[in-house]
Amino acid sequence: MPFCRTKCSFCNFASGVFSRALFDRYVGQVCAEIDAANDTARELGGQLDRRVDSIYLGGGTPSVLAPDQLRRLLQAARENFEVEPTTEITVECAPGTISGEVIDALLGCGVNRVSLGVQSFVDKESASVGRLHTRAITLDDIARLRSRGISNISIDLIAGLPHQTEESWQLSLGDTLASGVPHVSVYMLEVDEDSRLGTELLAGGSRYHAHFVPDDDRTADLYLAACERLEQGGVQQYEISNFARPVTHGIGLHDSKHNLKYWTRQPYLGFGVDAHSMLVAGDDLHAAGIVAVRFATPDSLEGYSAANGVAARAEQLLASRTLVDTQAALEESFFLGLRLNRGVSLAALKAQFGEAAIDGYHTVIADLIQDGLLEHDGDRLRLTSRGRLLSNEVFARFLREETIHHRDTEAQRSS
Ligand code: SF4
Repeated sequence: MPFCRTKCSFCNFASGVFSRALFDRYVGQVCAEIDAANDTARELGGQLDRRVDSIYLGGGTPSVLAPDQLRRLLQAARENFEVEPTTEITVECAPGTISGEVIDALLGCGVNRVSLGVQSFVDKESASVGRLHTRAITLDDIARLRSRGISNISIDLIAGLPHQTEESWQLSLGDTLASGVPHVSVYMLEVDEDSRLGTELLAGGSRYHAHFVPDDDRTADLYLAACERLEQGGVQQYEISNFARPVTHGIGLHDSKHNLKYWTRQPYLGFGVDAHSMLVAGDDLHAAGIVAVRFATPDSLEGYSAANGVAARAEQLLASRTLVDTQAALEESFFLGLRLNRGVSLAALKAQFGEAAIDGYHTVIADLIQDGLLEHDGDRLRLTSRGRLLSNEVFARFLREETIHHRDTEAQRSS
């Protein structure tokens, strides 16, 4: 979803402030894309399982859509897929955009989880990056969602916002814990140099508070402080950026069922601007040693909207397609699975990819353990807390030079 109320100064996602007149056309295009999912999957060489157990409406700010537009999108998903009764249906919302009508629409569509882009409970910090909400608005939204029966709420926080100090960060963490929400995501501010804040950091200026952005070391300290405080408050870290409370009277956590699919390499289909998909390869590609296909829509509203009709959309997706062979799938299993605190089971990887393939990583794993970035936990391999801070360096070590993510051009060459 590329629409937002305001553009946050640090953000370089495919989102922005657009005229409401564009919303309806866009919703129509996404619904058409959902209707064509079966044909598209076949065209892309993937297998489509029509049973769905998680739906996530995110990117941008979906709650700026009119209630009827939200209904059309979720209805299209229900009409084209078998949505299981226990499906986790999440919608990302910005505090201050959740009117009574929006909550009615969410409930009417079976939405049972809301992810709130809070970023900070300190008003000066949220305002400094262009957010329009205040602490009072956020707390009121949480109370209203709960009073209407949506208590599965996730709060996003950002460590490293302009003006953030150790003390003010503790205020945000304290409010988050006091709110009792079952899920929290904590991201370290990454300033893309093409964002307005990034440009100001490079070129100077005072409009976007660039002078007040904590440096990388302080941001890392803020992140570590969040891990510690949330853990003490009973919200357990289960992934580099994600934390959840245990399920009451049950087993497990209030983790994001949807995001777990990405980290455990289960298939998913994305629709709309900059939407990514991964499907298990169909028989023909499988026979050629390909285990999965990844593809994505264009990352701008203009590029996405340029495709008129099913064939044009399929052509766009085909141009983005990456064919994943066994070696690439193994690498993905490492660098996605290691994001989780439980890490990866080496025995399970050996069963899936063969003993020799895993043994090929023996030296890399030993070196990373030696460097204090990885550790064994029985049969499992996982990041240490230092490894979580330097995760990108760890993941890069699992990518081998000879790996070939077969691009379509290569596939064409060999066919
Ligand atoms: S609300 Fe999210 S997507 Fe929209 S501008 Fe802000 S950070 Fe970017």
